[in-house]
Amino acid sequence: MSKKPARQDWRPFRSDERPVERFSQHGRYVLALAYANTYHVGMSSLALHRVYELVHQRPEWSCQRFFSDGDGMPLSVESDEPLGSFGAIAFSISFEEDYVNFLRMLERAGIPGRRSERTRGDSLVIVGGSCAMINPLPLSEFVDVFALGAAENVLPELLGALEDEPDREAVIERLADRPGFYVPERHRPEVDGDLPKIQKLELTEEQMRAPGNLPTTAIVTPHTEFSDKFLIEMSRGCPEKCLYCWATFGMGRFRWHSTEYILESLARARGVTDRLGFIATAVGDHPEIERILQEAKALGFRSSVSSIRIPAVTGGVLSALRESGDRSITLAPETGSDELRIKLNKPIPNSLLLDKVRAIFRHGFTQLKLYFIIGLPDESLADVQAILDLGARCRDLMLEELAPTGKIGSIHLGTNVLIPKPYTGWQRVAVADPAELKEKIALLKKGAAELPNVTLGSMSVRQAIWQTYISRAGSEAAEMLELAASGETVASLLRRFRERVRPEVFEPMPGRLRWHFMRAGRVPVEPALAGRVG
Ligand code: SF4
Repeated sequence: MSKKPARQDWRPFRSDERPVERFSQHGRYVLALAYANTYHVGMSSLALHRVYELVHQRPEWSCQRFFSDGDGMPLSVESDEPLGSFGAIAFSISFEEDYVNFLRMLERAGIPGRRSERTRGDSLVIVGGSCAMINPLPLSEFVDVFALGAAENVLPELLGALEDEPDREAVIERLADRPGFYVPERHRPEVDGDLPKIQKLELTEEQMRAPGNLPTTAIVTPHTEFSDKFLIEMSRGCPEKCLYCWATFGMGRFRWHSTEYILESLARARGVTDRLGFIATAVGDHPEIERILQEAKALGFRSSVSSIRIPAVTGGVLSALRESGDRSITLAPETGSDELRIKLNKPIPNSLLLDKVRAIFRHGFTQLKLYFIIGLPDESLADVQAILDLGARCRDLMLEELAPTGKIGSIHLGTNVLIPKPYTGWQRVAVADPAELKEKIALLKKGAAELPNVTLGSMSVRQAIWQTYISRAGSEAAEMLELAASGETVASLLRRFRERVRPEVFEPMPGRLRWHFMRAGRVPVEPALAGRVG
């Protein structure tokens, strides 16, 4: 007997939501805003909140949210509308692992997965988010339109096309001629070779400082990674240039939001929560981070920050965070040895890191998370042992500093395998040999098990291979993604398609890179258009 699919039940989620601003749900135009993962993960994404807010701020528009929870037809959180009934669906995708969820959501909604099989009455499928800007080709058989850039820059054009054009084909045609949109039906870089490059429209420095362009949480809920927190974006990009990091190469020059607008946003938060989360790839590098944290504290907020760059850990930042009740700090040394860290282009010595770690525990923090990457070019077993040695030295400092207080602390060593992504300094390098990676992970597990109060998190080698493949592949990845969506395991796919995957993952990528049909763009958005949103 077949089991009836479990219907999504959003009632408990709805009743726990506290909107920062109440928007009408009855616009003339309604966009389906979908996240290809669960409510918990999707509502942790500030990008999703930003699009939600911008759509509602445009006259006559509203939007409804969809997540991957449950089985059967995806239903909107707002009013249980079926996903398949919407004329346009905008997916925000930030992680390649979500490609499979994306295909499953389309299938559950009764929308043909392949764009070539969609007809006039089918929904228009749009994808934005960082995956579109890293390499949209693996999804190009499934997506009608990719939006390449900041929501503030691409949404006015997208929503304008949806308002004006009579059908999906006309919308596709119109967007194909506009900067910031990749339309696979019209732009065929794999077939046509060198085409004029498509511009990605990231927020410029001037836009970042302008009023109305500060991404903050739109709906506070306990059901997220940042439970009950009002998130505020501090900056984009990073002053560092670590060779593996997309956030620094792909997001453009380091730039930050104005302190004035960040502080103003606290008034909006006040009505819904007393907890703030300041987020960015380089939160601590905002020139006025200490002032912002202190003013938030003075207003009665408890604050936390996402990972801080090691040099940006100052006494002022630590004091302000501790006084806000935060007990945990995350740093990313990436390697255990200074030499390898220099090769990674992060010239920060262990001596500086250890000074900062001492200061962290001295300020009363009890939890330290340290993130590392293994499988780096030229990495030896000795370099991996150096991660354990560094973890042990941090642990000694923790014990020394916390002993007089009677507190017990903990250190987490998070280790990921290098995924050489498009648009990074290492976009051409090969993934390390799987047998070597397994040996290194085994060494880490054994070493960490011998260190009390130290835990280890590590990524599977198989997952690293899969992620590398689907982040650098071309449109031929469609077949494997469809099989994955229909239930075939990653292990089985990697075995079955070994001949296709191996050269893409384990050999350096020479010559022209397939994703280089896009380039960072600074095309000014027409003021009249920009003014209609936000
Ligand atoms: S410090 Fe962090 S965010 Fe900055 S470039 Fe390095 S890895 Fe990326």
